[in-house]
Amino acid sequence: MTAVRIDGKALAEKVRAQVADDVRAFGEPVCLATILVGDDPASHVYVGSKHKASHEARIESRDHRFPADTSESEILDLIAELNADDAVDGILVQLPLPEHMDEPKVLRAVDPEKDVDGFHVINAGLLYLGEPHLVPATPSGVMVMLAEHGIELKGKEAVVIGRSEIVGKPMAMLLLAEHATVTICHSRTVDLAAHTRRADILVAAVGRAGLVTPDMVKPGAVVIDVAMNRNADGKLVGDVDPAVFDVAGLMTPVPGGVGPMTIAMLLRNTLTAAQQRRSQVAVRGS
Ligand code: NAP
Repeated sequence: MTAVRIDGKALAEKVRAQVADDVRAFGEPVCLATILVGDDPASHVYVGSKHKASHEARIESRDHRFPADTSESEILDLIAELNADDAVDGILVQLPLPEHMDEPKVLRAVDPEKDVDGFHVINAGLLYLGEPHLVPATPSGVMVMLAEHGIELKGKEAVVIGRSEIVGKPMAMLLLAEHATVTICHSRTVDLAAHTRRADILVAAVGRAGLVTPDMVKPGAVVIDVAMNRNADGKLVGDVDPAVFDVAGLMTPVPGGVGPMTIAMLLRNTLTAAQQRRSQVAVRGS
């Protein structure tokens, strides 16, 4: 058997085109502000891609970049300013922040209504309560992929490897909300393969190339590889051994799988933030 490849690039283009249409239909300017501190080259590339994608989706963007030695209070002041600015719909703080900054404190300073990454404690809590508002982009992108391929989740065994706040935990919550039976595995899990072999839907979000091998996968399973690792040749690879394509029924490649969906869902979140906040402003103002 060779798994059907999930084409994340094509699906992301479709989502981005839909967002562009929806922004036009919304009829008001939508604006995303990004904050980047430091000189991590990958972060500069990611932020650049986010601005380019915003532009293509007719979303305005503001690009705030600071040197690595910028003080935390300077960043908190900027966040307060952007929170108060009615023209700004979404605020994204590019991670990682430099070591001297308290990352959770900075993320919690963002107005939850403008928290397009969905990392604020309020948005995490709403997701936990089954009332999702702004949900982290990567796991929401995975859900769109599963829906696009008509994957029934109700009653299915879903195994998520990884329990980060950014991917693993929200991923598990989204699968649970669709009535999957969810297992979360992590670095202390004993006998990872015993769990993964039961999975109808297996999501790998660890950051360790080749972690998931063919013997760990149930034949015909849906395998979603979230990871982005660089191998010894500098090539982008996932957590899942490509030989798993011979066992799985449906699988994401790396690159060209989950990665492109993340930016598409960030744009969707920015529009959602604009729509929700403006409707609240309208209600408050009436
Ligand atoms: P993270 O915060 O480092 O979390 C990694 C998780 O993997 C942790 O929960 C860790 O367990 C678990 N883990 C580590 N070794 C393990 C092992 N041997 N067996 C089972 N679990 C193990 O990483 P993250 O931010 O969630 O990112 C995960 C991967 O996704 C990375 O490759 C990252 O680059 C990628 N990513 C991709 C996108 C995208 O757009 N495609 C977006 C975000 C992240 P403990 O909790 O016990 O330490």
